[in-house]
Amino acid sequence: MTSRDGFHWTPQTGLAQGVPSIGVISPATNVSSRNESWDVVVVGAGYSGLTATRDLCVAGLKVLLVEARDRIGGRSWSSNIEGYPYEMGGTWVHWGQPHVWREISRYQMRTELEESFDFSRGVNHFQLRTQNGDTIMSHEDEDALLAGALEKFVNVDGDFGRKIVPYAHDSFHTAESRQYDEMSCKDRLQQINLSLTPNERAGLESFILLCSCGTLEATSFFEFLHWWALCGYTYRGCMDALISYKFKGGQSSFAIKFFQEALSTGNLSYVFSSPVKAITDNSDKVTLSTRGGKEYTAKRLVSTIPLNVLNSISFSPPLDPQRALATNIGHVNQCVKVHAEISNKDMRSWTGISYPFNKLMYAIGDGTTPAGNTHIVCFGGNNNHIQPEENVEETKKAVESLAPGNMDIKRLVFHNWSKDEFAKGAWFFSSPKFLSTSLDSLRARHGNVVFANSDWAVGWRSFIDGAIEEGTRAAMTVKEELRPIGPPRVRL
Ligand code: FAD
Repeated sequence: MTSRDGFHWTPQTGLAQGVPSIGVISPATNVSSRNESWDVVVVGAGYSGLTATRDLCVAGLKVLLVEARDRIGGRSWSSNIEGYPYEMGGTWVHWGQPHVWREISRYQMRTELEESFDFSRGVNHFQLRTQNGDTIMSHEDEDALLAGALEKFVNVDGDFGRKIVPYAHDSFHTAESRQYDEMSCKDRLQQINLSLTPNERAGLESFILLCSCGTLEATSFFEFLHWWALCGYTYRGCMDALISYKFKGGQSSFAIKFFQEALSTGNLSYVFSSPVKAITDNSDKVTLSTRGGKEYTAKRLVSTIPLNVLNSISFSPPLDPQRALATNIGHVNQCVKVHAEISNKDMRSWTGISYPFNKLMYAIGDGTTPAGNTHIVCFGGNNNHIQPEENVEETKKAVESLAPGNMDIKRLVFHNWSKDEFAKGAWFFSSPKFLSTSLDSLRARHGNVVFANSDWAVGWRSFIDGAIEEGTRAAMTVKEELRPIGPPRVRL
């Protein structure tokens, strides 16, 4: 099936909107009667919504899942084009991510992962392009450059951030941690400016921007420390957790397992291609209205609508002022992720940074396509933003500029997350002061409405793991209320 989402370009076909995905659900609904009633309505079929839906269905509750798109997965979905999976959003997972790994074990997908990096052949080097010129170095030297620069950056406590964020799943555990949320990454860079070589500075800035896809001024230094703590306080840990292991069959091959399990209980109703416009809590029930004029009612509602678009929904009673303020501020991530299939087979072992002049700043060889070509995945952000579908030529130039002479482009595949009306951005990354003022409000319930999204998870916030953490939390809250567990009956 073809989703309305995503873009595909080849020299032969030009630019086309919509790409195939096994995450597309057809027919779009299994709801037959207007009079059906549900225990819970879940809004959004990303990993938060899929987890909540599955857990509630398995617990025996009747669930209606309402999704704006024609597919499951939200910000994590893949498109299989000519036998090769392109990841349009969330991609990499790791066994150090507890919720994601529980699900990978549940669906027996441990052997379905493969490595992105393959430093065994061809153009086996790192290419750093800055205003000062081109530097080619080994991958060992790439690691040493970035690890050294990052250690200077995070070492605010003489222990590489461990004293400030000792428990990565309890962000503001220490009183001192809050002061780092007042700071931007630009502020912190100024403090260590004199200790960085020009190459360290370029590598470090592009690494920070690869994490936040905002600007250095708009990136919270605390949230960067939080990522660093999650990754075990090392550069190597970051590379392992953030960009190493992906599903051979693509993310949609994982997400579909949640949906299929929920469906197999017989408790799941669903409606796709139905954007929600209003949510009204009448104290004994919640009513949801769609843009198409449909209304659905349940005892509880789980909203997994992302932070950057939550203010497009009309709530009655209105959201509390701090949550409303936070949804208007939003997160800063405007990642541009572009896949390029290039004819140079030897580029499989290449990695590169082109910064700050290029519209795509970081890229790696990520696979070999069935045609024997190299798949390069490229990242850009708000510091030098581009709307790829508006200017394919400029996008191609940005790919070419990562490794001049080595990027003969056969295909481009991408999703424009900035212009996506159901996301308005990529993964969560906060500006200074945001988390210390708003995290608790974003996590609070609102009458019969429970909010769940990776954007306000406590652990791997921003990640698929955080979405599953949140979906689990929401389902547990609702289950405890609608199916209270009585005292254990023990018979001797
Ligand atoms: P979402 O996936 O955003 O789900 C929310 C759902 O709500 C969506 O399906 C949306 O369509 C729906 N919705 C929105 N508005 C409405 C409405 N009005 N009516 C009905 N439905 C609505 N994470 C990783 O772990 N590893 C990675 O490598 C990684 N890379 C990423 C790369 C990119 C480019 C992006 C965009 C994200 C990446 N992430 C990664 C982050 C990860 O994808 C997200 O954190 C996670 O998928 C969020 O899941 P969620 O269910 O909380 O939110």
